[in-house]
Amino acid sequence: MANGVKMPYLGLGVYKMTNRDQAILAMSEALKIGYRAIDTAALYYNEEEVGEAIRNSGVSREDLFITTKVWNADQGYDNTLRAFDTSLKKLGLEYVDLYLTHWPVEEKFVDTYRAIERLYEEKLIRVPGVSNHHAHHLEKVFLKANVKPVVNQIELHPYLTQEPLRTFCKQNDIAVTAWSPLGRGGILQDETIARIAGEVGKSPAQVILRWHYQHDIISIPKSVTPSRIEENVQIFDFELSSEQMTSLNQLNKNQRFGQNPDSFKFDF
Ligand code: NAD
Repeated sequence: MANGVKMPYLGLGVYKMTNRDQAILAMSEALKIGYRAIDTAALYYNEEEVGEAIRNSGVSREDLFITTKVWNADQGYDNTLRAFDTSLKKLGLEYVDLYLTHWPVEEKFVDTYRAIERLYEEKLIRVPGVSNHHAHHLEKVFLKANVKPVVNQIELHPYLTQEPLRTFCKQNDIAVTAWSPLGRGGILQDETIARIAGEVGKSPAQVILRWHYQHDIISIPKSVTPSRIEENVQIFDFELSSEQMTSLNQLNKNQRFGQNPDSFKFDF
């Protein structure tokens, strides 16, 4: 990435893993089979479980890439510093690899990012970043930032290809991470994806995650099922042809399964 830090192309997303035992099992399974990145957030109420799975795994800290995010209610400069401290304690870590503004809360997101920058200067995080930022949010951040966000984590899958924002991020050396890369499971039945899956002898989920990878997009699919956790990383032994990539690109309908940052209600 722009600051020289390496991040795995695939990580485990852990949103809605709130059952403690199930969460620890899923995370431990992922670490056992070779995942090295986990994407959590204060909002997911499972940072303690992430910490426990890491400690149980025996994987060395420097081989892991842990992402967490400051929730909307905790934004602003001082609040973000406090929220980070709480997350760090829950995770039981000495530093976090990537810390993100979860959503661009109006009037606060620029100060939130300035606090993230301070954490970066203090070496408490290795990578400063944001999530759910449109180009107009990023432009506001650039005006006050010494270091541009290195990552923008956005909803991105074949039904929401985000081409203008991807181009903007590329021009500004910002790595893009796809959240809900599988459209929350809602695009797995698509006929074109199923056809291509048949052609390459892979599952629909693997085709979608390979499409992200060939576009240089990091993805963080979520599953609690061990066989799917494993399936989702078996994407490095095949390649989609340019015709197959084009067919997948053409599925774009600007369809969101989550919220649009411009109309997100920040009142909770
Ligand atoms: P996803 O696109 O990863 O889809 C997850 C669902 O797909 C699972 O619940 C499961 O039912 C299904 N699935 C997963 N693997 C499968 C497989 N191999 N075969 C069949 N079905 C499969 O959706 P998500 O959980 O919304 O997004 C992934 C991660 O992105 C989250 O866990 C979280 O870490 C992150 N996220 C971030 C934000 C943000 O605002 N920054 C928002 C949403 C999610």
